[in-house]
Amino acid sequence: MGFQHTQFLASPVQVYGCVTCRTHLATNENLISKNFNGSTGRAFLFEEVVNVECGEAVDRHMTTGLHNVRDIFCIRCNASLGWRYEKSFVQAEKYKEGKFILERARIADVE
Ligand SMILES: [Zn+2]
Repeated sequence: MGFQHTQFLASPVQVYGCVTCRTHLATNENLISKNFNGSTGRAFLFEEVVNVECGEAVDRHMTTGLHNVRDIFCIRCNASLGWRYEKSFVQAEKYKEGKFILERARIADVE
């Protein structure tokens, strides 16, 4: 038989908050990918983010092509946190529509 690894299926919820004021923004249960690039480096893609305000919708050229996005800001301290994908003009990137990017440098593990 040999050594068998034990699997843990129930992981505790990780809450991500604003790095400035620690307002809760998202949890690991809504995390889709940690492998994105933001303007300040690594960024996370989330299904759902709370406590943010959206800016104007603008077309932006990214490494993955043209997207219509809104920058998102903390509702408490107004810090810039990332953006929300409104529309992708690239077929392969359509799954990002309605999803949120939080820049790793702008969020903190709060719980
Ligand atoms: Zn904040």
